[in-house]
Amino acid sequence: MDMKDLYQDVIVDHNRNPRNFRKIAAASRTLEGFNPLCGDKLILYLKLEGERISDLSFEGSGCAISVASASLMTERLKGKTVTEAGQLFARMHGLLTREDAAVEPESLGKLAALAGVREYPSRVKCATLCWHTLKTALEHPENKTVSTE
Ligand code: ZN
Repeated sequence: MDMKDLYQDVIVDHNRNPRNFRKIAAASRTLEGFNPLCGDKLILYLKLEGERISDLSFEGSGCAISVASASLMTERLKGKTVTEAGQLFARMHGLLTREDAAVEPESLGKLAALAGVREYPSRVKCATLCWHTLKTALEHPENKTVSTE
């Protein structure tokens, strides 16, 4: 099995069985993200304990890429600090938009499965939706919605 098949399997798995797909009743932050290009919608729930993201989850509906991306993101960031989340956002954004050629997909572990969307510009926003939603939730807690446009 080559890496491309492996990455495809990760996306299919996380789309079929999204991790952390639930509501957090006592969330510190709740933010709705929308990608009008594809129709992807998600609600991101964050529970903060000081500087640490003690729990995060999502609900919503969208294409396989958007759901898998959100699933992978929540899995990766649980227990991380707000600073670490910001650093990971920058690396993922650099990877997916090709703005930062220095980001090696392999250094991102399972998240590298999303790197394939770079070949399909119209799908990049599907993959980055959850990341933009996360960033806005952390930096602008007063916001209730975010759109990729
Ligand atoms: Zn989509």
